[in-house]
Amino acid sequence: LIILGIETSCDDTAAAVVRGNGEILSQVVSSQVKIAFISLYYVKADLLAKYGGVAPKMAEEAHSLAIDPVVQEALHKANLTERDLSAVAVTIGPGLSLCLRVGVQKARKIAGQFNLPIVGVHHMEAHALVARQCCLPASNVFLFMSRLIEQDLRFPFLALLISGGHNLLVLAHNLGQYTQLGTTIDDAIGEAFDKTAKWLGLDMRRSGGPAVEKLALEGDAESVKFSTPMKQHKDCNFSYAGLKTQVRLAIESKNINVGKYSNITVFPVPIFVLLMTTLGAKWAFQRVAVLHLEERCERAIEWALKIEPSIKHLVVSGGVASNKYVRARLDRAVKNNSLQLVCPPPSLCTDNGVMVAWTGIEHFCVGRFDPPPPADDPEDFMYDLRPRWPLGEEFAEGRSEAR
Ligand code: ATP
Ligand code: FE
Repeated sequence: LIILGIETSCDDTAAAVVRGNGEILSQVVSSQVKIAFISLYYVKADLLAKYGGVAPKMAEEAHSLAIDPVVQEALHKANLTERDLSAVAVTIGPGLSLCLRVGVQKARKIAGQFNLPIVGVHHMEAHALVARQCCLPASNVFLFMSRLIEQDLRFPFLALLISGGHNLLVLAHNLGQYTQLGTTIDDAIGEAFDKTAKWLGLDMRRSGGPAVEKLALEGDAESVKFSTPMKQHKDCNFSYAGLKTQVRLAIESKNINVGKYSNITVFPVPIFVLLMTTLGAKWAFQRVAVLHLEERCERAIEWALKIEPSIKHLVVSGGVASNKYVRARLDRAVKNNSLQLVCPPPSLCTDNGVMVAWTGIEHFCVGRFDPPPPADDPEDFMYDLRPRWPLGEEFAEGRSEAR
């Protein structure tokens, strides 16, 4: 069994070929095209005018440019052609429809031409399930875990999915069966990392997380203080909008020059004050952002053990899970509760094709797939896209538990 996975839900165009036993045959993520477009976006005002400042349209164009070369390279690196594939898996939601469409179109084209079944994949389920692929003996990836895992990562397990658009705590009962214990009531943690990076002039592109991580630990813990979100709410939900505002206000109050693109007041300050505050803000931001995760995870573990007493693992995945401080702190929290932390390697935490291919394999193996589409879709074909697609049912008792 060999599946090609295609991912275009946000701003990375990614493809991978994975074998049924979990072996990764190839993995390609395109950023070059994306970067070219995004720098144009900031440099050229006319482009801004053309797109009316709407990023999705640009992301769609970047995907359209990248999709063919990315898929070709994935097949080439795997030393395969389309004829060797058993099926094509593609993300159909949640995400930007304009972007999802590019991937689905490509997947249907290949599937139609080579008579292959198609598996429509949930992006967040893929972020969670890739951890199962990582635990297989055939998978050649380095995994971050508290102890060596003696067996496959079995259902049920608890998952914390932290990325640019989502902040989810889900209990995975079985393949396709999830209970959502918590979600964000405003922003996701990745969005807060990106804005902090932007306001500090670190990185104008979307993925500011790594930039903040790199410098955060050099800061002075005491120079800036932020309060932890939602202390008084005894549930498993998250909120990052308030913390974002605290960061912005801290920067504004010092009148720091935070970069040429920012609209925050520019005022000359002695270099050491600037350094102390920016490093301090990053340090304090990362510490509080992660403390919020720890608190929610500890409560979610309590809830989850009541529903599924046999859970042994907390999976942490999504772009922010590639952060070392996040991993270390959650590892501690999980150990205190006698569970094991399972965290895919960074390249499988951020958006990638492997997670889509693997989730395709899991569903394909239980017969959940669509038959091959006709060789050519008509121009006005309506694709099955799910831009808003919750992962599982909300945990109804959560509200009474919270009291
Ligand atoms: P979603 O999965 O919610 O649809 P997405 O697919 O765009 O969003 P991912 O690629 O899964 O997001 O994750 C990207 C996010 O992860 C960005 O917000 C980025 O800043 C953050 N991120 C990546 N690496 C790190 C890091 N080392 N530390 C903190 N945040 C990080
Ligand atoms: Fe993602």
